[in-house]
Amino acid sequence: MDQSKQEKDYGYDLFPERNKGPNKGSFLSHSLLTFHNKCELMLKFAMETSPYAKLLLRAMESSGCKVIKDRHLSCEECDGTVSGGFDAASSQIVLCQNNIHQQSHMNRVVTHELIHAFDHCRAHVDWFNNFRHLACSEIRAANLSGDCTFTNECNRLNFGLKQHQQECVRGRALRSILAVRKISREEAEKIVDEVFDTCFNDHAPFGRIPHSKKDANFAYRDYENRDRYNSNL
Ligand SMILES: [Zn+2]
Repeated sequence: MDQSKQEKDYGYDLFPERNKGPNKGSFLSHSLLTFHNKCELMLKFAMETSPYAKLLLRAMESSGCKVIKDRHLSCEECDGTVSGGFDAASSQIVLCQNNIHQQSHMNRVVTHELIHAFDHCRAHVDWFNNFRHLACSEIRAANLSGDCTFTNECNRLNFGLKQHQQECVRGRALRSILAVRKISREEAEKIVDEVFDTCFNDHAPFGRIPHSKKDANFAYRDYENRDRYNSNL
């Protein structure tokens, strides 16, 4: 497989700043800098205040994968409407500064991508060759990041469905896979369905599906207290 084909198949065409040399600068530099600064500020705020993000950062640190903001997270320009991505080759999370304009959106994208990073840290995920691994992490990211919470779904006029969480997670996982891998919809559906139950029920490190910020705060508190029983012995 030649390099350009490979990059296309792995979704790198969505992230044009990946693997590019130092920024040459242009007449757009000034506005890009503004977008960039705003993205950096929202990212910092998400990491410091979102209970979802805080729990994932703690869990990764406990698993030996401490996240360093400037090393592992990067605000960049992206193509299309993509909001973020996890670059497994460099263990870096990309936040799309041209597509994330609200703090709540930033919080969700950071959480979603941190779940991929957490999976990358705790398991030998083969992102590029094993579609079942990718599908599993996309199911977990959609399920646990708040992507499918009631308010977000209301905004998309998708509420009121029975088994709503499952349907939403399945749909979002499918879309994520189809955005970054050249496989047919039928093939992607088959893979998602094969791993769905196992991955939908794997709530690590939250211990539950955090349906709201309140849930996420409870999960964070439980995570912080998890060693208390043994440490008192
Ligand atoms: Zn994803």
